[in-house]
Amino acid sequence: MAHTILVVFGTRPEAIKLFPVIRALASIEGLRVRTCVTAQHRGLLDQVLAIAGLTPDHDLDIMEPGQSLDRLTARLLTGIGETIDVEQPDMVLVQGDTATAMAGALAAYYRRIPVAHVEAGLRSGDIYHPWPEEVNRRIVAPIAQHHFAPTQTAADALIREAIDPTKVHVTGNTVIDALHWTRDRIGAEPGLADTVAPVLAKMAGRRIVLVTTHRRENFGDGMAAIARAIDRIAERQDVGVIFPVHPNPNVVAVMDELLGDRANVARIAPLDYPGFVAVLAASDIVLTDSGGVQEEAPALGKPVLVMRETTERPEGVAAGTAKLIGTDEDRIVSEVFTLLDDSDAYAVMARAHNPFGDGHASARIGKVIADGFRR
Ligand code: UDP
Repeated sequence: MAHTILVVFGTRPEAIKLFPVIRALASIEGLRVRTCVTAQHRGLLDQVLAIAGLTPDHDLDIMEPGQSLDRLTARLLTGIGETIDVEQPDMVLVQGDTATAMAGALAAYYRRIPVAHVEAGLRSGDIYHPWPEEVNRRIVAPIAQHHFAPTQTAADALIREAIDPTKVHVTGNTVIDALHWTRDRIGAEPGLADTVAPVLAKMAGRRIVLVTTHRRENFGDGMAAIARAIDRIAERQDVGVIFPVHPNPNVVAVMDELLGDRANVARIAPLDYPGFVAVLAASDIVLTDSGGVQEEAPALGKPVLVMRETTERPEGVAAGTAKLIGTDEDRIVSEVFTLLDDSDAYAVMARAHNPFGDGHASARIGKVIADGFRR
C-alpha cells in the first residue's frame, strides 16, 4: 500500500526549495505525493508553480492584504488542519521557517501525524532576527520526525537542542537542486529566460549589481537606508543596478518615494525563477537580505553582501563568498565600491563554493523517507 505524504507550502522560496523534493518523492515507488499550497505569497508562489509545472491538489488561498500575523497563523492552522483531515496522510512535509511551515507542523502534530522538516536546523540565535522566522523554525524542531539539515552546522544546532541525532540527516540544501535543474533547463530551452534579455541588454558594458530586499526587520528605517544607498551607488556610470522589487507594500512604497529615476537602475517586477537565475549568473555583485539568494550566489561564485546584522547561514561567510554588512547607508555604499574598485578584494569573494549542497539533496530526502516507511 502506498504511503501518502502531504507537502504543505505557501511562499516563493518554499516552492523553489520544494519542487525538486516533490519530483524526487513522486518518482519513488510506494510513495504518493499530495500538495497543499496556502498561498501565503499568492503572486510569487504562482510564478514558481507555473515554471515547475506543479498543480496543487489543495489551494487555501489564505492571502489577505494587510493581514496580521495572528490572523494569518489562525487561518493557516485551521485550513491546513482541514486539508489533513481530508487527505489522511501518513506524513506531512514542510520546509523552512514560514508561518505555513510552523502551522503545518502544528496541525499535523495535533493529529499525531509524523512531520518531515526540510531545511531544518538554521538558527541565528536571535528570536527577533529574522522575525518571526527564528521562532517559526524552532517550533517545528521538537515536532519533526525527520530533520533534513542542509549542512553539518545546521545538524549540530539541532543536536545541541537535544534532537535525537538518528533523526537528523545532512542532505545539502534543496535550493541547489533547484538552481542546477533550472540552469540545465535554461541551457536546453533557449527562450526560457528571454524575459530578462532586454534588461540585461540595457545594462551591457556595466558592472551589474543585483539587489533584492524584503525582510520584515528591515521595513522602515532599514529599507529607506537601502534605497538611498542604491541611489548613491547608481551615481557611478560604470554600474548597472538590477532590482526586482518584492511586491510587499513596505518595500514598494519606500522605493517609489526614495529611488530616483536613473537610466542605470532597472527597477523591475519580481522575476520568474529562470529569469532570476539568468540575472544572477550575469551579475557581478549581489546585494541582498534574502535567505535563498545567500545560498545561490556562492554556488555561482558571486560575491554577496548581506544587508542583515545576523545570518543563520554562516557557511557562506565562512567560505568567504558572503559578508554581513547590515543596513547602514554609508556601509552599503562603501562595501559595494570596495568590490568594484579593489580587484583583489573582489577575487577573494568571487570563488565558487558549494557550502550549501551538491544538487542531490532531494534524492537523499526521498531515500530517508522511503526507508523510514519500509521499516
Ligand atoms: N527569486 C526569484 N525572483 C526574484 C527574486 C528572487 O525567483 O525576483 C528567488 C531566488 O532565486 C531565491 C528565492 O526567490 O531562490 C528567495 O526568495 P525570497 O528572497 O523572497 O525569500 P527568502 O529566501 O529570504 O526566504
